[in-house]
Amino acid sequence: MSEVASPDKTIEPIAPKIGFVSLGCPKALTDSELILTQLSAEGYQTSKTFEGADLVIVNTCGFIDDAVKESLDTIGEALAENGRVIVTGCLGAKAGEQGGNLVREMHPSVLAVTGPHATQEVMDAVHANLPKPHDPFIDLVPQAFGVAGLKLTPRHYAYLKISEGCNHRCTFCIIPSMRGDLVSRPVGDVLSEAKALFEGGVKELLVISQDTSAYGVDVKYRTGFWDGKPVKTRMLELVRTLGEIAAPYGAWVRLHYVYPYPSVDEIIPLMAEGKVLPYLDVPLQHSHPDVLRRMKRPASGEKNLERLARWREVCPELVIRSTFIAGFPGETEEEFEHLLDFIREAEIDRAGCFAYSPVAGAVANDIPGMLPEAEREARRARFMEVAEAVSIAKLQRRIGATMQVLVDSAPAMGRKGGVGRSYADAPEIDGTVRLLPPEKISKTMKVGEFTRARIVGAEGHDLIALPI
Ligand code: SF4
Repeated sequence: MSEVASPDKTIEPIAPKIGFVSLGCPKALTDSELILTQLSAEGYQTSKTFEGADLVIVNTCGFIDDAVKESLDTIGEALAENGRVIVTGCLGAKAGEQGGNLVREMHPSVLAVTGPHATQEVMDAVHANLPKPHDPFIDLVPQAFGVAGLKLTPRHYAYLKISEGCNHRCTFCIIPSMRGDLVSRPVGDVLSEAKALFEGGVKELLVISQDTSAYGVDVKYRTGFWDGKPVKTRMLELVRTLGEIAAPYGAWVRLHYVYPYPSVDEIIPLMAEGKVLPYLDVPLQHSHPDVLRRMKRPASGEKNLERLARWREVCPELVIRSTFIAGFPGETEEEFEHLLDFIREAEIDRAGCFAYSPVAGAVANDIPGMLPEAEREARRARFMEVAEAVSIAKLQRRIGATMQVLVDSAPAMGRKGGVGRSYADAPEIDGTVRLLPPEKISKTMKVGEFTRARIVGAEGHDLIALPI
């Protein structure tokens, strides 16, 4: 650690500075949060620029080709502007064309490379290249959310990762080869982190993993403890307890990456009772049983249309978000039309779609019947046309309703309006609620607080609402 003289001639330590770039999905973001929490706890500071840093960490994504390119470009940029770079994340676990590590093959001068979810390895590489400051004062820097550590999201919402890895082997996906098999976090740790986040002001907790419905399978649903009480390491008990912890804070709990297994049926009544948000992110990827089989999707034998209909009977407010792949190898026109019919019939509220793109190392690349890129893109466009029509029609039905909205932005105390989200909108991936200036002069709005609003219009994927 270097030192500098302060105006009163005492010598003050200058903490080493680390530049940090976080790319990729919410799971990668939670890895970044763990590393940043540890860096902060040890007295490292962060730098907003590459030049101003003593060292740069790049947390990469390796899922699709565009993400790989973005990660490699970012590493190149950091090397050019700073020269001392540690790489972590999914791309760090990927093999290159010559059989070695891809990142090392492309950028041999990086200081260290680790795979995803490797806080300790990253910290070891940091310590080796930029010694840890030893300052008793700095070492006591408080963490933003207690046991939950630092968060990269705005203060009012946070991701809660409940497990790592995945036991499935979907043919288009290389995540298990990068992140390994399912490892569930102890239920007590997860619940303690949730409580710390609510105490720190989080109003919306987003539960993430690769397969939330599989929580606890690896530990045979072992019974853990939280707050002196036994709690099973299982999705139902986890979600019920999260709802109980959130209630006194008036906070939302939102579930992502849930597969349509029969066991999920038990969660829906909790949504109907208002314990957790009636929102499910169910990555279905396709509807046709033959395509699902070729994809080796979890729960591919389930009758999804009937299951979704039953869920909606129990909880009519339920919003379903999902992602799909158009133009999977061997997809016939008939199979694709089955998917379009499914979107219409299942009334998927929020649907995203990728045109199939080969991922290096994925089994699906060897499935016969690869479609030309133009056809894959054309099917994606056809899908989006149908999905948007469904989504817009559903948004139109909300006009006239009063909804609770979590405020994400509210310049001038909201007197000029703002932007928020209802229970139907997860941050970053869904639409928003555009809040008009309130009619009542006394009405103000603050970021991270809830407001009631009357829906007065819909515009694309967004709603327009008048705060009341
Ligand atoms: S469920 Fe399938 S797509 Fe999701 S992480 Fe596991 S293997 Fe990949």
